[in-house]
Amino acid sequence: MQLAPYAAQQSTSRGRRFAEDTPMYRTDYQRDRDRIVHSSAFRRLEYKTQVFVNHEGDMFRTRLTHSIEVAQLSRSIARILELNEDLSETIALAHDLGHTPFGHAGQDALNASMKDYGGFEHNLQSLRTVDKLEHRYADFPGLNLTFESREGILKHCSIKNAKQLGDVGERFINKQQPGLEAQTVNLADEIAYNNHDVDDGLRSGLITIDQLLEVSLFKEQYNIVQQQYPELDQRRQVHEIIRRMINRQVVDLIDTTKANLEQAKPQSIDDVREQNKPLAHFSHEMQEMNLELKRFLRTQMYSHYRVHRMSAKATHIIQQLFTAFLNDPKLLNPKYQQIIADKEDNGAELGKARAVADYIAGMTDRYAIAEYGKIFNPSELT
Ligand code: MG
Repeated sequence: MQLAPYAAQQSTSRGRRFAEDTPMYRTDYQRDRDRIVHSSAFRRLEYKTQVFVNHEGDMFRTRLTHSIEVAQLSRSIARILELNEDLSETIALAHDLGHTPFGHAGQDALNASMKDYGGFEHNLQSLRTVDKLEHRYADFPGLNLTFESREGILKHCSIKNAKQLGDVGERFINKQQPGLEAQTVNLADEIAYNNHDVDDGLRSGLITIDQLLEVSLFKEQYNIVQQQYPELDQRRQVHEIIRRMINRQVVDLIDTTKANLEQAKPQSIDDVREQNKPLAHFSHEMQEMNLELKRFLRTQMYSHYRVHRMSAKATHIIQQLFTAFLNDPKLLNPKYQQIIADKEDNGAELGKARAVADYIAGMTDRYAIAEYGKIFNPSELT
């Protein structure tokens, strides 16, 4: 793997919180990636969703397939920019680990429930998952990932929270940038979800091709495909359009970032961190087109009554579970009762609420629905 001087390198890594020997046949970043793939939070991504709830159909993206798509895009981008592909893959596969069930509706509901207890940020929760919540290794809590992986996972964070986080929080206070692997994964995430939401939106019938023709990024590629394959059936037509939209965005990102790198000439990852703004970004034109697409998705899809109806249900489920568990911890799985009892010994109401939030955030969509049924549905006796 040819690495540019500004890429993350094992030799300049800021290391792990608990020192470990470097593995024999892998780099430290490969080890980080492998630890994520083997974690239980990663497996649970299969039954967590972003827009559609898991039981709505097997054809839609889940957070697991989304994370794999982000990893694919991130690796392609990393290879061309001579970044550390293993680190990019690690960050991509871990970036959504802290999401609650039911996508943004779940996150907003949990944040509201946690209002008096420090709030809930899914991004911070991803870091918390790899730092604390995975219980697998004898010598340390969490997955003990390298600083660079943790830096990339913590995409954004309030200053208040940053102050509690030590080394990974510093850049939010000092207004520094993360490494380029983190920057590019962040944008690959955006490319992945905007495009797959168009795909899933069309498949589900929430949006139509006619509506999408008002979005220039879509229309541009629609015209090309239409001209080249006028007789194509709709499913393949949509796929041909979306693959071109993705390619257009990836190429734009690579070209713009390359030009920025040529100008700034960073000689190390620390040079990248010291820049006053990210070096990886889209061109101005693409930025505008992305905004237009996002606006379209927000008004036509995310606030569609069918999505809203499910979000309202999700909000209700999360709120009710939170209140029930906080008021009566005996309803919880004994493992969590123990965690709460330990916190209560220290007289910490805050800790109790945080443990409930950790438990709920870790649930899959279907587990949360089942738990709700067990607690609130009188006809479910077990
Ligand atoms: Mg994502």
